[in-house]
Amino acid sequence: LERTFIAIKPDGVQRGLISEIISRFERKGYKLVAVKLVVPTKEFAMQHYDDLKGRPFFNGLCDFLSSGPVLAMVWEGQGVIKYGRKLIGATAPQNSEPGTIRGDLAISVGRNIIHGSDGPETAVAEIALWFKPEELL
Ligand code: ATP
Ligand code: MG
Repeated sequence: LERTFIAIKPDGVQRGLISEIISRFERKGYKLVAVKLVVPTKEFAMQHYDDLKGRPFFNGLCDFLSSGPVLAMVWEGQGVIKYGRKLIGATAPQNSEPGTIRGDLAISVGRNIIHGSDGPETAVAEIALWFKPEELL
């Protein structure tokens, strides 16, 4: 079964949006197979966003991801990688549709509350970066 890596970023945790976000994935029918609350180091954040190094916002983005608790999760289910991105909405909240997580709950691209893997290869890589195999049910 397909799996994806989803993380509630420090702004989402701090704003008390954990249960709201988890319930959207649960009610759709996906299964939570791993979860933990972690404060990533900046180095770890840089690894996570490695494909964005060189972008002007990279440093600030990595500072932000490592600024507080992140709820790291793995969700499982048919089509969860692509549909999970659909639940999340467009990167910039001004472009994300109402009904999506970012559309309903965020206004700033630098504080867009949630991350989701963007494809099958990144899902595998991100799950391996954030979780040990024995942490996955
Ligand atoms: P994520 O990887 O966090 O799920 P995404 O896949 O929708 O988001 P990416 O292009 O991978 O978008 O960018 C990663 C993150 O970098 C975005 O979620 C956003 O917080 C930040 N970001 C992207 N573009 C910008 C920008 N132009 N200015 C500031 N921050 C940005
Ligand atoms: Mg991305």
